[in-house]
Amino acid sequence: MVVYCDARVIGKVMRIGGGRREYKKHCEQAREFVLKKIESINKIYKFCFKKISIRNQKTRWGSCSKNRNLNFNYKIIFLPERLAEYIIAHELCHLQEFNHSRNFWNLLSTAVPDCRQCRKDLRKGISLK
Ligand SMILES: [Zn+2]
Repeated sequence: MVVYCDARVIGKVMRIGGGRREYKKHCEQAREFVLKKIESINKIYKFCFKKISIRNQKTRWGSCSKNRNLNFNYKIIFLPERLAEYIIAHELCHLQEFNHSRNFWNLLSTAVPDCRQCRKDLRKGISLK
């Protein structure tokens, strides 16, 4: 069973690009970016996970499945870095807390102290760098 979390969004960002060609062009770069960020953020958490996939999704920035696979939208590389880090840390924390309980947000704020503000910013929609 795959259960998705709600790091979904939004407005302008998700409408930009999105074709197969754009995806192919940026997929590897996105993978490197995500792997590097996970390596550094996961120094705090030390969670284990299985596979990391980079996808071309229309409405989600990331998701985490019960099988401990993580998925990220390739467009994450176009976000301001703090929001990209927020999304990556958010999905990592779902490896332990598969919900959005207070425990989840506490856990997330260890790596991203302003996580609630990041969430708001993403929901508002943001312009790309
Ligand atoms: Zn979530």
